[in-house]
Amino acid sequence: MAVTVPRSLLEKHNKPGPRYTSYPTVPVWSKDFGSVDYRSALGTVNERPDDDLSIYLHLPFCVKRCFYCGCNSMIAGDKSAVDRYIDRVEREIEMVTDIIGTGRNVVQMHWGGGTPNYLTRAQTERVMAIMGRAFTFDALGEISLEVDPRIGSAEQASWLREAGFNRISLGVQDFNRQVQKAIGRIQSQERTLAFYDACREAGFSEVNLDLVYGLPYQTLESFQNTLEQIIALAPDRVACFSYAHVPWVKPEQEQIDASKLPETYAKFEIFQHTIDQFESADYHWIGLDHFAKASDPLAQALQERRLHRNFMGYTTRPAPHMIAFGMSGIGEVGDCFIQNDANCGTYESGIDAGDFPVVRGHRLNMDDLLRREAILHLMCNLELPFDLTCDAFGDTVDTLLARELDEIRKYEAEGFVEYLSDRIRITDLGRYFIRNVCMEFDAYLDQGNKQPLFSKTI
Ligand code: SF4
Repeated sequence: MAVTVPRSLLEKHNKPGPRYTSYPTVPVWSKDFGSVDYRSALGTVNERPDDDLSIYLHLPFCVKRCFYCGCNSMIAGDKSAVDRYIDRVEREIEMVTDIIGTGRNVVQMHWGGGTPNYLTRAQTERVMAIMGRAFTFDALGEISLEVDPRIGSAEQASWLREAGFNRISLGVQDFNRQVQKAIGRIQSQERTLAFYDACREAGFSEVNLDLVYGLPYQTLESFQNTLEQIIALAPDRVACFSYAHVPWVKPEQEQIDASKLPETYAKFEIFQHTIDQFESADYHWIGLDHFAKASDPLAQALQERRLHRNFMGYTTRPAPHMIAFGMSGIGEVGDCFIQNDANCGTYESGIDAGDFPVVRGHRLNMDDLLRREAILHLMCNLELPFDLTCDAFGDTVDTLLARELDEIRKYEAEGFVEYLSDRIRITDLGRYFIRNVCMEFDAYLDQGNKQPLFSKTI
């Protein structure tokens, strides 16, 4: 049963903050970081031929834009636009393998979007063939994609599996029809459930479902049907993302009536109820908003405090480098973060001009590496061992981050953290405020001008 969180405590600590999919976070990265820097970072990958790779491919195309969408997505118009985009992705892959060589071992590949299953079978197989010529896929590799069940079919599930995918994530959000109308995404429950069954029959080793809480008209009671349906399916993992209403960043969201959004505490109760429901069904709560069956490797990794995360999500098999392809793709190569142009036209013209369309990036310094280690360990494993070492400094975090560890004593008084002899541990109450604790280790927030870009705790 979830702990009680008083409204006053939530209001006191509900402030904008990063979700820490990376540290430093994207708004800190420099626009002066460009293709020359990216080439140099890829050069370090070339010098370490035994390092495994992760790959992310961004496929932005969708049939129709949902009002709530926070992704870098676009309406393709016709499928030939997809072919032209794949031409550029192929060229981008060649530019990377010109530097790092072909045949590097890939332990994880994820196609995100947009709607990756918008691609036809021929387009999907073409991209897989391009990837296969450029890289070697580990026999135990995780090959995953995100799909929109509204355009899925049993036939598609089958050929996606044959193409080499072994994991699949279905976007659900909420089965309630009033909520679906308000977010511009009508999605038949029957069709979603049928596609889920088709994925199971096709032999996907892992089927994940994505939900969203905090949507217009959503209530604790209305969301219950969705939760019951999802739990009855017994997916391997579920993500339940918080809806962030930021129409000044995502103009599509102006079509959502903000007066129908649940107020902060009601939204929090929906989330807390979701946690209760999944934990009662023998799922483990992972990180901020994921759930995994007790038998899932993610849940086991959390128990053993060896969970990691990258831009693609939580993983038990981190690779030293993540190379991203496609518009808006974010990579982590060597000690650098890199982001591609998020505009499809300029991404494509950049590739046509023969250069990487990098728009921002960041080279991590020693202090960044130390703080990243501390923040990601806290976010993933809910603790910070004092003897966690940072290779770059050759010392342990209790010495290197003594001031910050002292600073978060204030959260001990709130009941968010416990100081043990060898570590600090996030309490059950503190899980709801883990971003606040991590923010104490963030050297860039002190610079004062970034917080409005982030969503609130709830
Ligand atoms: S299908 Fe997904 S990516 Fe496409 S518009 Fe809807 S929410 Fe955005």
